[in-house]
Amino acid sequence: MAKKPTLEDIVSLAKRRGFIYSGSEIYGGFSGTFDYGPLGVALKRNIEALWWKRFVTDREDMYGIDAAILMNPKAWEASGHVSGFSDPMVECANCKGRFRADHIEDANVCPSCGKKGTLGEAKQFNMMFKTKAGATDDESATVYLRPETAGGMFLNFKNVVDSFHPKLPFGLAQIGKAFRNEIAPREFVFRAREFEQMEVEYFVRPDAWEAAFEEWHGIMHSFAKELGLPKENLHDLEVGEGDRAHYSSRTIDFEFDFPFGRKELWGLAYRTDFDLLAHEKTSGVTLRYLDEDTKEKVTPHVVEPTFGLGRTMLAVLSTAYTEDEIGGEPRSYLKLPVVLAPYRVAVFPLLKNKPELVAKAREVFSLLKKASIVAVFDDNGNIGKRYRRQDEIGTPACITIDFDTLGETPELKDTVTLRDRDSGEQERILISELVARCSA
Ligand code: ATP
Repeated sequence: MAKKPTLEDIVSLAKRRGFIYSGSEIYGGFSGTFDYGPLGVALKRNIEALWWKRFVTDREDMYGIDAAILMNPKAWEASGHVSGFSDPMVECANCKGRFRADHIEDANVCPSCGKKGTLGEAKQFNMMFKTKAGATDDESATVYLRPETAGGMFLNFKNVVDSFHPKLPFGLAQIGKAFRNEIAPREFVFRAREFEQMEVEYFVRPDAWEAAFEEWHGIMHSFAKELGLPKENLHDLEVGEGDRAHYSSRTIDFEFDFPFGRKELWGLAYRTDFDLLAHEKTSGVTLRYLDEDTKEKVTPHVVEPTFGLGRTMLAVLSTAYTEDEIGGEPRSYLKLPVVLAPYRVAVFPLLKNKPELVAKAREVFSLLKKASIVAVFDDNGNIGKRYRRQDEIGTPACITIDFDTLGETPELKDTVTLRDRDSGEQERILISELVARCSA
């Protein structure tokens, strides 16, 4: 049985190989923030691109938007976030530590200093970050950093309807930053204060929500499969009435077996007509949909599939992280789906001090780049070390240019070795076949 990675394995790989660093590290960090390094950005962009393709461009009923993070604060009053977007918090009278009441195992014992009977009453703590817009400093200048991307989509419902006249059902999609002043950020990027969401607000006729809910449920599971997340590690949790967000009449949490336990990865919520009605009431602008054929006016209901990008990356990394033995040596590697790997292929000259090998390897490298294949050039250390390095970051294939490529064995001229990450097997193929092989 392959060993399951611990969170430490993932955090250490992420830092060492430039996927994810703690935010503001040289200042000792800044809780709940993370900086994505070169490989993390590549992986993140690949996840976003796949999501955008599946949820927007592959479909005819979806419209992408990119709304402002700062919004008129009335929007967050209307949506119920100013009054209701809170978590219960308790404070320890001894160490002054603050904790989420619903995350504490023993209500009598402080999880930080261990003292008994020092935890106070639970108070509601609003998680929205506040800032001020403009040169005045009074309360009227207060604005919020959005706690979810959804709000920007409800505010653009009318714009998109007016510009595109879509027929129901249709949806808006957005990828962007969200901010939550989490009481206790933890478990790496799982619970951050600044993170990204990929969200869909899908507008349907009121009587069609159940069918839409089922459809998106299936699509979310297919997306998980494409990311390589094993079915047995993903669990639907029907969220009970008292535990749902204030706007939801039905929620399924997609829970995932992370290295630190089973926790929410994504969510699917039926937001009813809650948001459109609330924004209509507060703004005074009609947010109804006019069916141009029947002349009937309806307030659409909304089904919302929502995905945290950081949590998705963490699920992908902990699934891909594999330890095995190759050629009698232990190795750890990322068994990433090809579509997600930061580099599709690595190109090596067998020896870095032979100019003719380097020149040929550069030629192959340019050929791949010109074909828009994301390639990396590596001539550092021996070939075995280079393989390990690429394995560790999940590069699916490595190409080596050797003396046979140059014609030392005449029948092998213009061929290279192509090595597979997962099996370690090598084959000899013609340079002219590389682009087709690496495009798949
Ligand atoms: P939790 O119960 O874990 O706090 P939530 O139910 O509040 O999460 P939602 O409001 O449904 O989360 O947010 C939608 C998605 O955004 C989540 O499924 C998750 O993927 C992501 N998400 C929410 N909060 C965070 C966070 N603090 N850090 C990273 N991702 C988050």
